[in-house]
Amino acid sequence: MRWLILGDIHSNIEALRAVLAAAAGRYDEALCLGDVVGYGPDPNLVVDWARQNLRACVRGNHDKAACGIDDASGFTYESRVAALWTRAQLSPNNLEYLEQLPQGPVYIESFQIVHGSVRDEDRYVVTQSDALEELRVLGTHLTFFGHSHHQGGYMEDEKGYLQEVKPTFFRGCASAGLELLCGEKYFLNPGSAGQPRDRDTRAGFCIYDSVGRRVEFWRVPYDVAATQQRMMECGLPDALVQRLSFGY
Ligand code: ZN
Repeated sequence: MRWLILGDIHSNIEALRAVLAAAAGRYDEALCLGDVVGYGPDPNLVVDWARQNLRACVRGNHDKAACGIDDASGFTYESRVAALWTRAQLSPNNLEYLEQLPQGPVYIESFQIVHGSVRDEDRYVVTQSDALEELRVLGTHLTFFGHSHHQGGYMEDEKGYLQEVKPTFFRGCASAGLELLCGEKYFLNPGSAGQPRDRDTRAGFCIYDSVGRRVEFWRVPYDVAATQQRMMECGLPDALVQRLSFGY
């Protein structure tokens, strides 16, 4: 089975369309690691797609804020403005979809998906010590996580040594492959489709081939200016508009 793994789409339909165009014909089923909405200008279009096309999705902190499970009091000012704006835009069916999204981890075949971390859906895993704590409690050899918006992740070899996974894109290539080895544990982030924060403005995602035991990390350009124009038309905070230009 070939899985399209998406995370942190954040209501960015332009980015989602670019991802789907690049991934067309390369996957059998799609999964999402949460944060379907928040920040971006098209929550209903993105949730409409999610409802019809995702085999499974875990909830993210922005999904909880948008449907009222969380009051967004822990958010930055701009994030809270966007969350409340999103809540006002969402159709009743789309609000209900976000409300019923499960908390991770959710098990798929022999791997699992989470939003932030295995123990806490809202926890950021951004350092090697964060990752070590996660790798020690993983119930499976492969976990996909989101939330940090950084593509890559971590692996632990048979001897317990930790390595960072940083996809290297050779010139002109949109994808970078990682062969998964038996006995090693992987904690991998496909990157953010809709608001990358690793200084690369392109939409991130990955495709996992569970038979070939291979993960392909992808980066594809999308029409950033079109998303920014829509955000300005919607009156979303300028800081959220500008950060898409820098991938941060
Ligand atoms: Zn996010």
